[in-house]
Amino acid sequence: MFESLSDRLGGVFDRLTKQGALSEDDVKTALREVRVALLEADVSLPVARDFIKAVQDKASGQSVTKSVTPGQQVVKIVHDELVHVLAGDGGDGKLKIDNPPAPILMVGLQGSGKTTTTAKLAKRMKEREGKKVLMASLDVNRPAAMEQLQILGVQIGVDTLPIVKGEDPVQIAKRAKTQASMGGYDVYMLDTAGRLSIDEELMQQVEAVRDVANPRETLLVVDGLTGQDAVHTAENFDERIGISGVVLTRMDGDGRGGAALSMRAVTGKPIRFVGLGEKMDAIEEFHAERVAGRILG
Ligand code: GDP
Repeated sequence: MFESLSDRLGGVFDRLTKQGALSEDDVKTALREVRVALLEADVSLPVARDFIKAVQDKASGQSVTKSVTPGQQVVKIVHDELVHVLAGDGGDGKLKIDNPPAPILMVGLQGSGKTTTTAKLAKRMKEREGKKVLMASLDVNRPAAMEQLQILGVQIGVDTLPIVKGEDPVQIAKRAKTQASMGGYDVYMLDTAGRLSIDEELMQQVEAVRDVANPRETLLVVDGLTGQDAVHTAENFDERIGISGVVLTRMDGDGRGGAALSMRAVTGKPIRFVGLGEKMDAIEEFHAERVAGRILG
């Protein structure tokens, strides 16, 4: 188990009984603990450094109210700053799916949970917003991936584009668009192929699909347990493809969610949803407060 940040700071401040204002030394001592906690939570080093600097500027010289200990005060400053960075400009978590049929491009590495997330979001839009959704798998190299989406479609009662052998991803994307227009769909979701790591061929393929589909939303699905790798993945996809948001999966696991902070800080793109399990309902809108609490422990 991780030691929670509050416990760490409690220990540091037990030795300090000062009241009045937080001294520079108090803050420095506390922030050393905060830094360790952030790194343990998988926040990347440069992001942790910038974060500490921001907290330091806010905390130095702040007066300590009688009702809280200096430790609690620093925890509060850290918490508020975490929420501030994580939430960014907020947004309501709703996908931009006006002007039907709205294309949504799903991108990410193989195994990140992309296909599962595609189906989860389709189910959500269908049930919560009454949308008619079409899903299409563009993973021509992995017939099993195409079949997986089809099976999920049947399970959640959402249509999938019929599989036609021999088509390339761009052809499938075009067919999805035609079928979505003709079939009166509100949304069509393009589940692109994943690879185990980022390569040039994958990026070119996703770029080509993006250019024909002109997606309203491009959601990057990343495994929230992969820490630093998740951040590199997000940087790469955002540079090449331009993403509109991130879905962090496996947030039901043991990870502390530090990747969320790093990704938000590095790409500036909002985290829109978090995946919380394998079941089709195990997804929720991103709540900065919850993830901040989790990072702090
Ligand atoms: P893809 O290769 O990116 O399309 O990944 P999949 O959608 O096939 O997911 C890979 C595995 O991760 C599957 O067994 C999913 O059930 C599982 N998975 C996806 N999202 C989550 C999540 O949020 N939490 C957990 N625990 N498992 C997930």
